[in-house]
Amino acid sequence: MQDFCVCDLETTGLEPRQDQIIEIGLVKVQQGEIKETFESLVNPGTLLPVKVKRLTGLQDDMFKESPFLSDIAPDIIEFIGDLPLVGHNVSFDASFLAWHLGIEIPKQFDTLELARIICPDSPRHRLHDLCVSLNIELSHRHRALSDAQATAQLSFALMHKVQNLSLAYLARVNNFLKQADSAWIAYTASIIKDKMRTLTGEGLKISYPLPDTVKRRKPRHSQITEIIPVNKEYIKSLFSATGPLKDQLSYFEVRPQQVQMADAVTDSLNENKCLLMEAGTGTGKSLAYLIPSLEWAIANRQRTLIATQTINLQEQLWTKDIPILKSTLENDFSAALVKGRSNYLCLRRWETVMDREVQLNEDEAHFFARILVWLGKTKTGDKSELNLSKKEQEYWLQICSDPEICQSSYCRWFHRHCFVGRARMKAENADLIITNHSLLFSDLRSEHKILPSFGPLIIDEAHHLEDAATSHLGKQVSRVVVRQWLQSIYKTAGKLTALIPPSEDKQWQENLNNIRKERQNAGQQVTQFAQSIGISLKPLGNESFFKTAIRLRPNEDIHQFLKSEGANLITILKSVMQSLKDLLILLEMFGETDELWLEHAWNIKELIISGDNITNDLEFIIGVGDENHVYWVEINGESDFNLVAAPVRVGELLFKSLFKHERGLVLTSATLTANESFQYFIERTGINLLPAEKVLTQVVPSPFNYDQQCILCVDKDIDIPGSVSEETYFNQLAESIVEYILAMDGRTLILFTSHNALRETYNRLKGPMEQVDICLLGHNLDGSRTHLIEQFRESSRSVLLGASSFWEGVDIPGPALCNVIIVKLPFWPPNMPVVEARLEELDSSGLNGFSHFTLPQAVIRLKQGFGRLIRTGRDKGSVIIMDRRVITKRYGKVFLNSLPIKTHIRGDTGIIKKRIANWLQDPEPTPRWTSIKDTNDIKRNLEMWSKRHI
Ligand code: SF4
Repeated sequence: MQDFCVCDLETTGLEPRQDQIIEIGLVKVQQGEIKETFESLVNPGTLLPVKVKRLTGLQDDMFKESPFLSDIAPDIIEFIGDLPLVGHNVSFDASFLAWHLGIEIPKQFDTLELARIICPDSPRHRLHDLCVSLNIELSHRHRALSDAQATAQLSFALMHKVQNLSLAYLARVNNFLKQADSAWIAYTASIIKDKMRTLTGEGLKISYPLPDTVKRRKPRHSQITEIIPVNKEYIKSLFSATGPLKDQLSYFEVRPQQVQMADAVTDSLNENKCLLMEAGTGTGKSLAYLIPSLEWAIANRQRTLIATQTINLQEQLWTKDIPILKSTLENDFSAALVKGRSNYLCLRRWETVMDREVQLNEDEAHFFARILVWLGKTKTGDKSELNLSKKEQEYWLQICSDPEICQSSYCRWFHRHCFVGRARMKAENADLIITNHSLLFSDLRSEHKILPSFGPLIIDEAHHLEDAATSHLGKQVSRVVVRQWLQSIYKTAGKLTALIPPSEDKQWQENLNNIRKERQNAGQQVTQFAQSIGISLKPLGNESFFKTAIRLRPNEDIHQFLKSEGANLITILKSVMQSLKDLLILLEMFGETDELWLEHAWNIKELIISGDNITNDLEFIIGVGDENHVYWVEINGESDFNLVAAPVRVGELLFKSLFKHERGLVLTSATLTANESFQYFIERTGINLLPAEKVLTQVVPSPFNYDQQCILCVDKDIDIPGSVSEETYFNQLAESIVEYILAMDGRTLILFTSHNALRETYNRLKGPMEQVDICLLGHNLDGSRTHLIEQFRESSRSVLLGASSFWEGVDIPGPALCNVIIVKLPFWPPNMPVVEARLEELDSSGLNGFSHFTLPQAVIRLKQGFGRLIRTGRDKGSVIIMDRRVITKRYGKVFLNSLPIKTHIRGDTGIIKKRIANWLQDPEPTPRWTSIKDTNDIKRNLEMWSKRHI
């Protein structure tokens, strides 16, 4: 493609019918070179939204002299002429040009579309990120001409990459693009033509690069008779001022808390004991457990397993800590990051997808083209290289490895390329395995078929253990899962219809017809089931932390209703399964003479196995028969359901499967205790079933000086929710929050316990924030969690509103975050099925559910929320609790005693603002208790502190 026009627009928003163009940049490319450019600001006739000002750097006064769009429309139209339009997400620019200028451009080429395929493993495909990775200059991000020029360079680079693809890959990419109805098809077809003309001997057979070779090492001990203890003094020396870590870490400092933790971990490994370790933020706990556990594993020829809850921590261990240890420790070691099978591509399933002749939809065709190009370079087959979107995650399920359908040694890929086999062999050779809670529990469920045997076990982020066990050791069936299964049957049947059977043609046709008919019936039954659940049960639910959830109890009306509706669904699903089984018999018969039919038989087996799992789980859930399970149905919207069964007590399960084995065991987190006691954690996770002498507990405080770095405030102005009308409550709340935000000049994270409260507050803050140019970012309202945190981190005057997932894992050091507002004490709603069942269970054992479960759980969550503020030794700021129960109720003391700060102030919004201002002005911790000084200028004091911080 030689001649085209690149366009980039800046606009006031995303909707052409509502929003205005504010800047236009055009670049004319002729004969593959940039020949001419056009740029202009465009007077929108309105004020710019704050987010747009932030993004572009444009200000309202810059438009005073600018032309209106109608003034420059003829120039724009003439510049573009009849050239094809190229853009990064070109349909956005084209839709604005069409609506505001009335020009329709028939040929549009999207660099975003092509980049996603040709640069499949780029962590992001935004223009800026691609420019960084492809070394393209982008002088003014989010300014129209600069973006358009960079897009032109990007298009050159991408076209160059297309030209470098081998003919075999290019032909298949071309095929996928054809199915996606992509404009780029003309370009790829022309390259194929050129290659065919000029290249000889380049075959059309696809070859994949071989993964790294893995040599099998000596097996580990499965049992050890005598422990070889690790020398504690040696471990301590590694953390000392003269130790090897100092040369590896640019931020190295001797942290007594870290040494203390490493010492305790060494003890627990040497003595085969269970250590519960609460290590405050900033301890450096990952190295404090990695070093002793690695040394111990090497000395004792045992594998150590480390399990984290979040991918972020897993990645940090793998990409930061392990490389440091590789260059620090004298002993050579091997480590492996083990993920579930579904993270890896299955080459057998991939080939099946490539071979099938079913028409793909546009997104699917793009996805498979992307995977194909990626397969030409990946050595791991691990999807984390791809940064898949939500929709792509669904497509991934068609090609990922699945334990139920893996052909193992019968598969032709097994001995050479199979990504899963390679990853497994690496894990078997490793001294240290890093995995996550989810896989640890999947391994337990599968009777240890997933992870290699291991000795010591370290569970980080252990405060999640009970929840992780609850969700992974339970069962669930959702409408999405059933529909995906039926959809796969539809696609497979479509593909088989195109084949000519070697014999039994009549029966073959009959079986296929049966499958189609049964599948259609099942689809209707699922819809009917979902609708009747929605109509009958929705009024019974109420909005809480998550979706509407309704508990199922044996023989109650709701259960009877679901039982009869569910029984019909199960009957129909079983009919579908029977049709599949009939077809399988035929396919296996055909396979005796032709292997190709065996491949189809495997696909049908896959469907039967998944169908079995769905019907078994469904039967279990609607049976509501197991006393140690709680059952409920979640309703999302009018017609989405999720049926769930979860264990009520996980302690015994954890004890039997993980804790009772003779092994060193470390459970650690920054928040394990409530009111300075581990009792809650011990009771909930089954640690109480271990002999007392086997359990060590220790709290290592954070090295941060919370009393100097932070001020804790309780706002008494706000009524308790429920004591006044919702309207009054949210108005009061918003009024005070606005005052705090204005005083802080943004820089605030607000934590909510419900999405409803978040939305209500967001709507009330929006107007006042727009007026003062403070950027408001709402969870699920302005983008995904990651995107919002990134935006907040990069901006100095922003307010972030987050619900459940924002209470932990948000790490924003420095002046961008100086204030955390906790709207409500984070009690779980007592009517959540799992919570309700656990309270009932405690009650029946004669224990007080509030003090043994509800309160400590909320305390741990509050500690997590509080922990968002101080992330480094130089951070400073306030935490404001807007729930006065923390000072008016007796249990409030438990919350306050559990926080790492000794004192707090209480008062109305005005008093609190003055106290914070006083405190910020004077770096010493005492002024908050002295008389209030004249100043209440928090903003100015914060500025001064920020400067000191920088
Ligand atoms: S061995 Fe299993 S996971 Fe590997 S390619 Fe074959 S079927 Fe897929």
